[in-house]
Amino acid sequence: MYKKIILLLILAVFILCGCAKAKKEPVANTLDDITKRGNVIIGVKTDTYPFGFKDKNGKYTGYDIDLANLIGEGIFNEKGKVKFVPLTASDRMMKLFSEDVDMVIATMSITPSRLQIMDFSDPYYIAGQSVLVKKGSKIKGLRDLNGKKAIIVFGTSSESSLRAAVPNVRIVGYKTYDEAVRGLKQGKADAIVSDDTILIGFSLKDSNLVLLPKRYSREPYAVAFRKGRESEDLVRVVNGVINESSRNGTLQKLQKNYGIKKY
Ligand code: GLU
Repeated sequence: MYKKIILLLILAVFILCGCAKAKKEPVANTLDDITKRGNVIIGVKTDTYPFGFKDKNGKYTGYDIDLANLIGEGIFNEKGKVKFVPLTASDRMMKLFSEDVDMVIATMSITPSRLQIMDFSDPYYIAGQSVLVKKGSKIKGLRDLNGKKAIIVFGTSSESSLRAAVPNVRIVGYKTYDEAVRGLKQGKADAIVSDDTILIGFSLKDSNLVLLPKRYSREPYAVAFRKGRESEDLVRVVNGVINESSRNGTLQKLQKNYGIKKY
């Protein structure tokens, strides 16, 4: 009886380990690995309307998602080959480095520090940092945040640029944009600093929030890859898709549909 219990326990451990492994697909580091596996695993956001979010049926939707699907078609010549993995600004690099995803398409700007540790495609969109405040706020621009509290989302490029531009700002960090907006509305800080294209979504949905008109940086969004030779073919194919989609007007059409063409 005792032996039987031990055997059952061992069996249970085996089954559990098997399940845990089956959850994560085999890592594909090169274009070749991806084509052999038969799908491309792309990390995308779900809290960043209109770039990466879920529609009311739970379907991944947005400009970044449409680009991911174009890339899937570019690799496989067939639709429906993309497996989406949700991530946030704060965990997107970790998910890339831990090989949970083949690439990241998540409103991610090319920055000099990121270029040291990751590879990027050509840019597929240009945003700019701006400031979101509550209606009636005395904050009229970035400099007014001196001595005040400003919210950033962890893992975004706003933190370092905000510290450089406004040395005496007190920074409050959140993991997601939804939490950041809740924080602003609850008076935890005076403003949120992030990309205009992300913040405008919140100001359009909520008339108590106002996006200030000035832009304080240039944020070229690009697809991110693990750094190294292994990514070379992948970057080339992705650049081909981005450049062709820009040339034939597909990207511009998507930008218009999502209302992000010009601010
Ligand atoms: N584009 C900026 C970044 O790459 C901020 C927006 C975001 O990704 O949440 O950090």
